[in-house]
This record gives sequence, structure tokens and C-alpha cells, in this order.
Amino acid sequence: MGSGEDAGRAVQYNTIKVRLYPTPEQALLFEKTFGCCRYIWNRMLADEKRFYLETDTHFIPTPAKYKREAPFLKEVDNQALIQEHGKLTRAFRQFFKSPDTFGYPHFKRKKADRDSFTACNHEFTSGPTIYLTRDGIRMTKAGVVRAKFHRRPRSGWKLKRITVSRTPTGRYDCSILFACPVRTPQAVAPDPARTVGLKYSAAHFYVDDTGNMADPPHWLRRSQDKLAAIQRRLSRAVPGSRNYEELVQKYRLLHEHIANQRRDFLHKESRRIANAWDVVCMQKNAMQAVDRFMQRANGLEAGFGTFRVLLDYKLARQGKQLLLVDRFEPVARQCSRCGYLLPEGVDYGRRVWRCPACGAQHRREVNAAHNIKQAGLRALAG
Ligand SMILES: [Zn+2]
Repeated sequence: MGSGEDAGRAVQYNTIKVRLYPTPEQALLFEKTFGCCRYIWNRMLADEKRFYLETDTHFIPTPAKYKREAPFLKEVDNQALIQEHGKLTRAFRQFFKSPDTFGYPHFKRKKADRDSFTACNHEFTSGPTIYLTRDGIRMTKAGVVRAKFHRRPRSGWKLKRITVSRTPTGRYDCSILFACPVRTPQAVAPDPARTVGLKYSAAHFYVDDTGNMADPPHWLRRSQDKLAAIQRRLSRAVPGSRNYEELVQKYRLLHEHIANQRRDFLHKESRRIANAWDVVCMQKNAMQAVDRFMQRANGLEAGFGTFRVLLDYKLARQGKQLLLVDRFEPVARQCSRCGYLLPEGVDYGRRVWRCPACGAQHRREVNAAHNIKQAGLRALAG
């Protein structure tokens, strides 16, 4: 899923998933393609690593390079191999951008990694290379593969690419990606009642101005405890020993698992907020500092910057907006009822405080979220 601007018209992507019923010959071709994709991925990754060690530059060779030494690559759809190059390039780009969320691309193993391949559709004057028939999908090398559709694309949807995969139970699935033209969303007029202020919270991830908090992610804490335990055992293990290697492997897998859990959580929470509110106010930049600071802690805190990015685009897609309030606004030490400003240096860092001017009792984070919302509304009006 994603969206983009195309000559003034917005495009959104939709996926339709179907089950495939290949003939034995087609299934064999799929298996070969899976194998070739895994092979080329691993070869490119190995060469990237070697290249990096030798020259200190990041470079991924194209699939064409491997065809002479591995002629079997010519038996499968070349598009699928090119896609592996694209996937690996993207995996590296994400890793360089956000190493904590995405992790270093890893070698694919036959049992552990899902078998799949992707192919892009090309529109030639003679027609597209991939298209749907009444009860099947026409693919480049396999021909028409029988498929069961529960949903058909709407008119105007353009088939962009397909991903064929095999489930652990031996079923073949295909997910078909379509580019769908949509009207640019109408800008939603701001309304205080449809505006929310969000404050980053170490304990609850975020707190809003009405006191709502993100669901405390118990599973994440549990995984992190496990991670800490492995780390402790690692520190006692002898480097190079078999036990040590096993622990390193365990650590790597769990780290990856946590990254996935966190990504799911961030998507879920940002989707929930973007659907519920028209304007979301948050503090500017403060979170980047938190992100940097918490990077090593590997906690949920490290995801707050990502959360804001996700929220931004999920709101924009609906014509809604994310408003960033100056991070020097004294949101934490101002009374949201009477506006009294606690002098700087006063210990307001407790969970609850009472305003010396009006006597209002404040929960620290909720009060701050309220001030963030007010500052946002002022910016909207001004
Ligand atoms: Zn007050």
C-alpha cells in the first residue's frame, strides 16, 4: 500500500490476493524460479559484502553478471531476477536509513525463508506481458495459470506486478498489485473538536490531551527481556565457541522479530489515530533527539520518529494534517487551564502537579498534550 503523485493525479495501490492452481509443469517452473531468486539474492548479497570489505563502497552487481557461470538462470523469467536486485537494493536503502528498524539484509535459506518471486508487468504495443483472464493469470514464462478470484479489479486499475509464493503447506498464492487512480483528497477543514494533541510518553508511548494512551505493548517488553537475557549469556560465553555462535544466531533472530513486532505496532497505532482525527498536533524535532538517544536501548521509544512519519502520510492520504509545534514551547510546565507558567527549574517532573495559580490538578503528560493541541490550534488560526 502506498500513494504517490502522478501529474497532479494521486495514485493509490491496491492488492488482490488469489490462490493459484498451476499444472505440474507450471509448478515445476515456479519451483525453479524460487530457487533462482534465492540463488541470485544470496550471490548479490555475498558480492556486496565482499565488495564493501575490499573497497569500502556499497555496490550490488546486476543479475546479468551471473548468467554465464549459472546458465540455469536463463530458464526462468528474467523479470523475477531483476526484481530480486530491486528488492535487495531497497533492503539496503532501508537499512542505511534506519538500521534499528530494518536490520541488515540476510542470506535466504531454503527452509527458513518464504519462497517467492515477483514480476513486473510491461505494456507493449502488442499488449501487456501480464494480464488477467476470466479464470487465470497470464504470466511471462508460465503462460495462463489457473486462479481463483474472490475479487476483481475495478475499471481503471492498472496491473503493476505480481508476486507468486508458496505457503509452508505447499499452496501457491499470487498477490497482484494494481495502481488505482484516485481523486486528490479534499483538504479537511480544521475543527478543534476533531483535533488531538499527542505527547511522547516513555511509559505509554504516547498520551493524548484527553488522557488516552497507546496500548501498552506487553509482548514487546517480554521480547526485550528475552533479548537482555541472551545478551547476559553472550557476555559469559567464549567467543568462537559453538555455544557463542548459537547465541549470536538466537540474538539475531530475536532482534529481527522485535523489529517486526514494533513495525506492526507503529502501523496499527498510526492508522488508528489517522482514522480517528482530522488534525494531529505533536512536538517538532524533540523526537529525533529521543530517537538518537534511545537507538541503543532498542526499545519502542526508538520508534516514535517512525510513528510520526507513518502518521504524517496516513493523514495526508485522507487530506488531513499533522501539525508540528515548536519544541521550545513550554508545554510541560504551563497550566492548560489558566495559562500560568511554572518558573523554569521548578521540579514539575512528577506525574501529577497542582497549579499554584488556579489550583487545577494536572496529570503531567495529559496537560502537556493539551498544551500541544492548543499551540497547534493557535498555529492553524494564525
Ligand atoms: Zn492554572
